[in-house]
Amino acid sequence: MKSPPSLEDLIGIEYSKLGFFREAQEKIAQLHASTLELERRRQQIQAILDGITDVMAVITPEGRITSVNRVFYEVFGGSSPIGRACYNVFRGSDRFCDPCPATIAYETNRLCRQEHILTLQNKTRHFEITASPLRDPQGRPCHILLLKRDVTLEREYQAKLNHAEKMSAVGLLAAGVAHEINNPLTAILGFVQAIRKRLPEVRDRLPQEFRSTLEEYTEIITDECARCQEIVQGLLSFSRPYTGATTAVDLNQCVQETVRLVRHRFREFPGLQYAQELDAKLPPIQGEPSQIKQLLLNLLLNALDALPNGHGAVRVRTFVRNDHEVCLEVQDTGCGIERESLGKIFAPFFTTKPVGRGTGMGLSMCYSIAQAHNASIEVESEPHKGSTFRVVFGLMP
Ligand code: ADP
Repeated sequence: MKSPPSLEDLIGIEYSKLGFFREAQEKIAQLHASTLELERRRQQIQAILDGITDVMAVITPEGRITSVNRVFYEVFGGSSPIGRACYNVFRGSDRFCDPCPATIAYETNRLCRQEHILTLQNKTRHFEITASPLRDPQGRPCHILLLKRDVTLEREYQAKLNHAEKMSAVGLLAAGVAHEINNPLTAILGFVQAIRKRLPEVRDRLPQEFRSTLEEYTEIITDECARCQEIVQGLLSFSRPYTGATTAVDLNQCVQETVRLVRHRFREFPGLQYAQELDAKLPPIQGEPSQIKQLLLNLLLNALDALPNGHGAVRVRTFVRNDHEVCLEVQDTGCGIERESLGKIFAPFFTTKPVGRGTGMGLSMCYSIAQAHNASIEVESEPHKGSTFRVVFGLMP
């Protein structure tokens, strides 16, 4: 096939000799080079944007997205957001967020930082949002650059750290109080026991009714002192992390032995459905069996207490999760825990039970036992539906 005539063919060699053609050729070459350079720079900028590990979007003052980076698609899914409203893409909403960081950045012509909580694929995620104005040559904002950094893990660690710090502060306070109470308590118990011992000496000189009242009172004082001592021991063990020797512990055996202890209480709950699902292949964990039994006992007693009028189901499970976590779970269909109480249940003395029934020490002890075993306690609860307490241990080294 014949190739189309070139510029040289059309205008003749004479003109090129005059320099015109060469000039045109040079201009074309320059244009070609600058197009290549522009494309190279565009690719470089795209590579930089794609290299940013935060979600990036450029939006107009009206909130329309004009460009995004690769991470955007990884976090928010496949379909193109170009031309769509940012509030619709990020939140599925039909109006601007209140307050909207992009609007603030645009109106103030300054950078604006906010933290937003979004739900993505049914998971709550915390995003730190930085909105900065992109300015025209006159310095006026024309677009807004949004950077969204996923800080969910950081926030979780921060919350855990705060919780641990709070627990250790309260633990120290509790230990101080417990020590102070222990001495007078021992004295009261000693004296009341002395009175009981000496009662027979005066027995015949006292009227029958007065004598039995005295006996009853001393018995009550002894019982109440014993209860106080239990609380004090609880406080002390809460503040003092367990440092005893550990062995390989079979969690299934712990469950069986603990349930044997509380089985007699099951009779108080005629409407109770108790179930046990123990993984026969459960690997052992490193720990101290009596502590783990105490932890489980507290969780079980709480589950029983939560059943309205003693009716409902309690299930104890052991299982392996994610190949490396050994879980001990107590689930009930009881009253559940109100949202505002969830953050407080592990604090010493927090109780919603009537005076005389709850000390508020059970879960705080569970917390310190779990900590001593490098385990964590997960809680899921819904008011009026029930609660699940899951102790997650690591595999034995
Ligand atoms: P106590 O049992 O003496 O109240 P805990 O520290 O064991 O102390 O529990 C603290 C509080 O946590 C309870 O008073 C109750 O409000 C809540 N709680 C614990 N376990 C459960 C459960 N399984 N269901 C509902 N609420 C619970």
